[in-house]
Order: sequence, then C-alpha cells, then structure tokens
Amino acid sequence: MDSRNSSIELQKEKLIEISRYYGNNPEYIIAGGGNTSYKTKEKLWIKASGVSMADIDEDGFVCLSREKLKIISTKSYSQNSLIREPQVKGDLQKAIISPSNKRPSVETSLHELMDFAFVVHTHPTLVNALMCSRKAKRSAKKLFGRKVLFIEYTDPGYVLYKKVEEETVRFRDKFSSEPSVIYLQNHGVIVGGNTIDEIKEIYVDIEKKIRNHITLQLPDKKTHPSLEYAKKISSNIAAQLEIAPSNVLFRTNGLIQYFVQNNRDFEKVDKPFTPDDIVYCRSDYLFTSAATTEINEVVDRYKKRHGSLPKIIALQGKGLIAIDESEKSARIVMDIFENMMKVSFYSESFGGPQFMNPEQIDFIDNWEVENYRRKVSMK
Ligand SMILES: [Zn+2]
Repeated sequence: MDSRNSSIELQKEKLIEISRYYGNNPEYIIAGGGNTSYKTKEKLWIKASGVSMADIDEDGFVCLSREKLKIISTKSYSQNSLIREPQVKGDLQKAIISPSNKRPSVETSLHELMDFAFVVHTHPTLVNALMCSRKAKRSAKKLFGRKVLFIEYTDPGYVLYKKVEEETVRFRDKFSSEPSVIYLQNHGVIVGGNTIDEIKEIYVDIEKKIRNHITLQLPDKKTHPSLEYAKKISSNIAAQLEIAPSNVLFRTNGLIQYFVQNNRDFEKVDKPFTPDDIVYCRSDYLFTSAATTEINEVVDRYKKRHGSLPKIIALQGKGLIAIDESEKSARIVMDIFENMMKVSFYSESFGGPQFMNPEQIDFIDNWEVENYRRKVSMK
C-alpha cells in the first residue's frame, strides 16, 4: 500500500471514530438519523441510508465518485417531485463506486457541496430547540453573528440541496470563505472541518452558545413509577388493542408529566418538528383522558381517521405510550418523542415551539426515501 492509500485508510478510521462519537450521544443522534462523510479529491465516503452511526463500521459506508455526484448539481430535473426524486436517486445510485447494494444518504449532495474533508450532519436537541422555535432565524443571528448560514425549512431531497447550494454560493461571494456550519430550520445542523477535532470544537462552541441562552431547566426526571405500574398499563393497553405486549411501551418522568397534564400542555408537542419525527413517530399523536381500560374506543376513532394505529398515545396525567412493530422500534419511537418534548421545552427560550406545517408534513408522509430509511433503521 502506498503512503497515499494508507493515509486515506487512516482518515476513514477517523470517519468511523467521529460517526460513533456522535452516534452514541442521544443528545445528537437517535436511531438511524444523521450522517457523516469523508472525501478526497476524487471520492466521497458517506454513511449508508438507515445505518445507525452508534456502531457503524467500514461496511456502513458507501463510496461514490465526486465527478459523477457533480452531475446532479448541473443537470435539470422534472419540476414534479414524484418524477424528480426518483431521477435524482437514480443519478446518485450511478455515482456509487462500491458497494452497489447500499443506498447512500439522501443528503449526499449536501456533503459533496461542503469544501471540507469531513462533514458531520446531526440533529442535536439543543440546536433543534433553536431551529424549531418561532425566532429561529433571528436568534441564530444573535447567537452566532451575522456570518451565519441559516436555511429556511425546505422539503428534503433535491430542493433542499439546490437551496443550500444557492445560499452557499452567496455566502462564499459575500464573506470570501467557506461556511463550516449550515443551520437547517426544523431539521438540524451540518458541520464541516478538515480534521475531526475541528468538527468537535465547532460543535462544542455551538452547544455552549445555545446553552448560555437557555435559562429554563428541564423538569426533574426523577418521577419513575415502579416497573410493575408501567407493565400493568402497557399490558392493559396491549390486551385491549390486541397487540403483542412487548410492542407497547409505557414511560413517565418529570418532563413527560409536564406535557401530559392537559390538552393545552400537550398542544406544545402535538405536531412534528422535523422530518425525522415523522419518519419514526408519524405526524398525529393521540392525547386522551380515557381510562386505560377504555382506550380501545378512542383508538378505534383514531384508526378510522388515520388508517393505522397511533405510534404515540399521551395518557392524561399518567404518561406516554409508544407502539411499534417490535420492542426495539417502540423504544426508538419513545426516545424520539421524548426528544421532541425537550426541543419544545427549550424552544421557550427562543419564542416557543414552531412545528412543521401541513404541506411540509404531507411531503414527508409521501416520500419513499424516508419510508425506506425508516424500514432499514427499525430492523
Ligand atoms: Zn438530517
């Protein structure tokens, strides 16, 4: 192996290291969200869609030709997203060097765009408290200065990529430098650096600035009920809905209690903040004051309206129920929803929560790419 190759191997080790570093921190990444990349002049390695960053190894990445990725930037595609997105996906697939049986992240073009060796895209709780707040743009400027690249919410995929590209070009012209941080409204943040230490420093700085601005303390988490109580509630509900008890999870704590006292409190968390929230928890959450022994009527009404079981049921005064196809995936649903509660809580420091709107939600509900990602990461 020549020295160039061995240095690339070393950098790929670093890519695995930084992926696991953030992937193991639930304040940054939950389940299959986020993505990381490393690039040389010719090639780009990016996390495959749906693979979890927490325990990723070499096989979790896809290697692509940068020359072929650049074609996506210049080519013109259909205006109709239902035609366009598969076209773009096809071109992304054509850019793969190896392995051809994995899908590169849909955000690959965003990674290609950033002129840094390493790019780490995450959905940090604190950043999203800011990005999913009513004063997102204004507060970002106040906290990070006027040299901040803030991208207003845009449907993910090609349209988001073009928007970020346009804004990046404008940024380069205006400041004669490369933006190392891109803030995405109702989504997260992308950080670029030529070493992984550079990236860590940037994240520490972002977190510090946001934390300094947040005056609220999360409600005490120490109201854990006994295991028996939790089991009784979840098995009660599972029996009534005729689903496997292991696929129904009950959780309560100070934060959850804060939001489930009544309908009005729950309104602060009753819509998705980000595409990931929809991918894992869907977009309609059920709040009910019905007794756990009488829940099937309420759930039946929900099923008639939405065509499926709710993933999240908030039981007034009691806590949260998460339902999914396995115990593991129900836990992910629960973790994502509890994270939404944190985002909502902290967003009060920036004018209060700002959810996705109905059109934005619809786009994600109908997007094959996200459905694929969900399927892979919930396995
Ligand atoms: Zn993302």
